[in-house]
Amino acid sequence: MPDLNPTPLTVVGAGPAGIMAAYTAAEAGVEVTLIDDNPLPGGQYYRQSPPQFKFANPLDAQSGRVDAPQVLDKLPHPRIRTLYNMQVWGAFEQHTLALADQEHSFLLPTDRVILATGAYDRPLAFPGWTLPGILGAGAALRMVKTQWVLPGKRILLSGLGPLQLALADLLIKSGAEVVCVAEAADPLHGWQQLPKFWGHWDRLGEALGYTNTLRKHKVPLLFNHSIIKASGREHVEQVTIARLDVVGAPIPGTERQFDVDAVCLGYGLLPSFQLAVALGCGLRFDRRLSWFVPLHSERMETTQPGIFVAGDVTDISGSKVALLEGQVAGLTAACQLGFIRDTELEQRLAPVMAELSHLNRLAGALQAIYTFRPGLTRLAQDDTLLCRCEEVTYRQAKDAIAEGATDLNQVKLRTRAGMGYCQGRFCSVLAAPLIAEATHQSLADLQPFTVRPPIHPIPLSVLAAGAPAAVVK
Ligand SMILES: Cc1cc2nc3c(=O)[nH]c(=O)nc-3n(C[C@H](O)[C@H](O)[C@H](O)COP(=O)(O)OP(=O)(O)OC[C@H]3O[C@@H](n4cnc5c(N)ncnc54)[C@H](O)[C@@H]3O)c2cc1C
Repeated sequence: MPDLNPTPLTVVGAGPAGIMAAYTAAEAGVEVTLIDDNPLPGGQYYRQSPPQFKFANPLDAQSGRVDAPQVLDKLPHPRIRTLYNMQVWGAFEQHTLALADQEHSFLLPTDRVILATGAYDRPLAFPGWTLPGILGAGAALRMVKTQWVLPGKRILLSGLGPLQLALADLLIKSGAEVVCVAEAADPLHGWQQLPKFWGHWDRLGEALGYTNTLRKHKVPLLFNHSIIKASGREHVEQVTIARLDVVGAPIPGTERQFDVDAVCLGYGLLPSFQLAVALGCGLRFDRRLSWFVPLHSERMETTQPGIFVAGDVTDISGSKVALLEGQVAGLTAACQLGFIRDTELEQRLAPVMAELSHLNRLAGALQAIYTFRPGLTRLAQDDTLLCRCEEVTYRQAKDAIAEGATDLNQVKLRTRAGMGYCQGRFCSVLAAPLIAEATHQSLADLQPFTVRPPIHPIPLSVLAAGAPAAVVK
């Protein structure tokens, strides 16, 4: 595979964090390569509808975000080479990245790298969770906001966190009937966190607006409740929810059933850290998330010098934090490359850090209220699928553990869980609590699956094709 011309800075991910990182560094004088696997920049928050869609209000093409032009208009930029529809599928020696578009594959040597690869919907396994019609809340938001398609007509939302309210509001306003919002958080948890909401009036106003929509449409919002079962012949038709106890386990006798044709699961997001691991960056276990995140300094540098992270890949704190972290990473990388002096860096970072700490206070409060509780990992039955890509059941995973598997990789070798299309991004977080409980280990002591290329599936024909004659400049 021939090389692409390298630039001093490579940014992976053109969401809020990646755009700000690339733009900040480019404005300081750095030549940047910005890569994203979508046809247009914006990431999840500023996701753009396909250019073929025509809108009377141009904002509707940009997920309806009023601040979208402010961010998206930073591109194109004379010092930013953008590679869209381009996936980074691996990292090799000396931080060379492996890239692929629909037809060709390339190698890109790098110097400084900022990973702004975002996050994905956390899976929740319960009997029936793989039925068609059941999808992640993030995926549902994406479907409605950019494709203008509803996931169903009678929808139940179950999950943990404020994204559920935003989705319920959107679904109702788009014409769907929301039959119930089951919120797994315990409201009593929230009181101690209330002072941290002081000053965040816009966010409180937003939440109030969403709950008003629910009230107006008589949609029950049930705290301390979660989906526990779904059934249907070829599609989800009925779901059961139940009240949760202190550890998040369903309380027998509290079940309620709803007829639905779609379910949106919003149990939070998990950082897409696979590329960071492929580049040798260390992880830490985050107790509130109950999963791993890349280790990084205050200036967003990972344990690998010259490799930075920014945005949702660092932990899940929303788009405003992502924009600011992108700025911090972009400025620090520009300083390391000699485009900004140390003293200037300090001056420019100070206001950004102050704003970040203000926002992180709120993000911390939200994470404390919406902590993922262990009872939610015990809803599956023996015949429930644990790895939907390779169709491995909980029984098969338990058998592997009974035969001696004590970590994720050993379960993978015995069952093929984690070898499928998603490369273990979903089943790792489902299998880990099972292993931890059976082998009396703490979740924090387990390691995620070993990351191997390709971290995203690519056709063999693309690998074989190599790069085209005229390589992108
Ligand atoms: C599915 C989903 C929907 C969401 N919807 C909302 C919402 O409606 N409202 C809200 O307030 N918040 C939403 N969020 C959360 C919010 O969007 C994020 O907080 C914010 O977008 C984070 O910005 P980011 O730049 O860190 O990551 P993202 O915006 O996720 O951007 C990351 C980008 O990197 C790309 N990428 C990742 N890996 C690779 C790779 N290997 N090669 C090439 N490109 C790669 C991704 O395709 C993506 O475009 C959503 C999150 C998700 C996951």
